Amino acid sequence: MKAAVVPGFTEPLAVEDREIPAPTGRQALVRMETSGLCHTDIHAARGDWPVKPSPPFVPGHEGIGIVEATGPEAGHLAVGARVAVPWLGTACGHCDHCVSGWETLCLQQQNTGYSVDGTHSEYALADADYVVAVPEGIDPLDAAPLTCAGVTTYKAVKVGGTRPGQRVLVSGIGGLGHLALQYARIFGGETIAVDITDEKLALARELGADHVIDARDQDVAEEVARLGGADVAISTAVDNDSFRAAYSALRRGGTLVLVALPAEGSLELPVFETVLSGKTVVGSIVGTRQDLAEVFRLHRLGRTRVIRETRRLEDINLAIDEVLSGKATARLVFDLR
Ligand code: NAD
Ligand code: ZN
Ligand code: ZN
Repeated sequence: MKAAVVPGFTEPLAVEDREIPAPTGRQALVRMETSGLCHTDIHAARGDWPVKPSPPFVPGHEGIGIVEATGPEAGHLAVGARVAVPWLGTACGHCDHCVSGWETLCLQQQNTGYSVDGTHSEYALADADYVVAVPEGIDPLDAAPLTCAGVTTYKAVKVGGTRPGQRVLVSGIGGLGHLALQYARIFGGETIAVDITDEKLALARELGADHVIDARDQDVAEEVARLGGADVAISTAVDNDSFRAAYSALRRGGTLVLVALPAEGSLELPVFETVLSGKTVVGSIVGTRQDLAEVFRLHRLGRTRVIRETRRLEDINLAIDEVLSGKATARLVFDLR
């Protein structure tokens, strides 16, 4: 099988021929149809974060495919079913996080395309209990971005406590942000989109953003203050300055939901302002299996539009350059069929 492999943190990815793995225990062997390129794959390939993966490994965690075979303890998953293989590859299933519907916080979790081989490959192994069924009628090219960019921002909008009529700022209108904007609208928010490329600002307008701010030459906090401040701000831009801007754009009582994970990501919190203004800053990590099922249902109902272009797996290094330049059309998806 063809697989994209990270040979080391300073080298380009290599597309290699590998043995198709055999499922054991609770695993399923999934024949991948599509796999979305998340900015996280780039952080993984460069070893950007404090907890690093171990090269060589296969990145990718927005994988959609067909169950081809199951291990002896995965018989409950039907061969032939279309499933999503998300970032949360597996969790323990019995800790307090797992049993309270927060399996994304499980300390025993394994992450697809990070601590275990991922989906930028013609086949991948996945825990049958942590894949999510893709409903009939959803294009696998749409399902891929929904599996991380979608579920992550859907959850972030929930974590922000978004209610109808609130002003929601979305910082960064890329793979995650273009979906964040749509979920904020679904939750009834008045939306403010911020980016630094003409293409993404145009996309935000096309997706119905109520206000659009160009952070290259506009002061985000000032512009948002003119509107009355943001109740919720969701930071998907891979840039520390954008966190500070989003924090400053909050109105009293507002919540900043941190989502993007730049290398050396940090935000200095002014204590006086945070306390006196009753601001909340909260981190949000992907979403649960239930969140992803809801994301698929909303898409099936026609409530979301996935803006994406397809690429060949062989062109993964070029695709990474496109994402880093900010020129990629919201999401790039590898078509592995
Ligand atoms: P992306 O590259 O597709 O999107 C980033 C967008 O931010 C681009 O449109 C870019 O033009 C814009 N941008 C850059 N600098 C900006 C600035 N100063 N102000 C406003 N916009 C700016 O990336 P993505 O795939 O959407 O991922 C975004 C980040 O989210 C990555 O760091 C990724 O690792 C992280 N992520 C986190 C989670 C989570 O669970 N918390 C899940 C998935 C991805
Ligand atoms: Zn991701
Ligand atoms: Zn657990």
